Amino acid sequence: MFDINTLLRQNIKNLTPYSSARDEFKGEASVFLDANENAFGSPLDTAYNRYPDPMQHAIKLRLKEIKGLPVRNIFVGNGSDEAIDILFRSFCNPGVDNVIIVPPTYGMYQVSANINDVQTKKVLLTDEYQLNLEGIAEAIDTHTKLIFICSPNNPTGNSINREDIETLLANFNGIVVVDEAYINFSRQKSFIQELTEYANLVVMQTLSKAWGLAGLRVGMAFASEEIIVVMNRVKPPYNVNEASQQLALQALQNVTQVNDWIKETLIQRDKLVLALKEMDFVLDIYPSDANFVLVKTTNATGIYNYLVDKGIIVRNRTNVELCEGCLRITIGTPEENNTLIETLQQYK
Ligand code: PMP
Repeated sequence: MFDINTLLRQNIKNLTPYSSARDEFKGEASVFLDANENAFGSPLDTAYNRYPDPMQHAIKLRLKEIKGLPVRNIFVGNGSDEAIDILFRSFCNPGVDNVIIVPPTYGMYQVSANINDVQTKKVLLTDEYQLNLEGIAEAIDTHTKLIFICSPNNPTGNSINREDIETLLANFNGIVVVDEAYINFSRQKSFIQELTEYANLVVMQTLSKAWGLAGLRVGMAFASEEIIVVMNRVKPPYNVNEASQQLALQALQNVTQVNDWIKETLIQRDKLVLALKEMDFVLDIYPSDANFVLVKTTNATGIYNYLVDKGIIVRNRTNVELCEGCLRITIGTPEENNTLIETLQQYK
């Protein structure tokens, strides 16, 4: 049985979070002399002299509308990278607990584990880039707190079979994190709908990809209220700055624009795949549910260096497990993709 109290990191159990005088004050006030801010203003023409809303209420209300989830099930972070780190700090005792990752996958799970002195148990994906459920079951021990599943997966681009993730959710007593950074480009349904079913599910999404806001650093985690309460207790008080909160809120009105970009990205992805198929150094192109494709080539490093020389940067993944010879190529604008295709057609 999933029990958040046995799962929590030891010192988090009785933690008193940082609380500002403004959080504690419940009434109406117009004179704020509690936070040592500059009362005169800021050199900028906005309210930046004041600390931002620690709970990002306005953004959460908008996300509630878009995602159909209550505010109490939403965490907002300084990018979803912050949410990953906060999960480690909330649930993993350094030097004692472990997490499971399923390479090839997003690199920050390992980086965050290293920083937090948490062991990772690696269970490689299968040749089809799907979960090895038996391997995961064998790897789980009493100190396994989190399993990170990225779907659609970075760098392979494919979605992970839904039933396999559900099997994990039903059988693992720790938390299953489903990282849906690329979900907007996918034909698969989000796991957000499953939150009422599974108390041990954390779904992560971000404004950095389809929403085009990588520079603002705004990411989300969706989970049961009890998990969100813990994450809010552990996060730095003002983790999302005022400029990012205001701009993210403004951008979140623009669903139509984002949907148009997603459609165009998928059209461009198909075009790129068709063009790549004709190139004789391309051995395989893996089916993608994301805004990038993983391409197996005869000579990834040679092609990578050739492209760099022409001013085009792709990601060389040839040294990553199960990705030998692979380049990960992000879908660009039609012009950028044409430049890439024309340049690759001249590669010898
Ligand atoms: N998850 C995955 C799978 C990603 O690829 C990325 C960014 N490359 C992130 C999370 C991080 O997103 P954010 O910009 O919200 O920190």
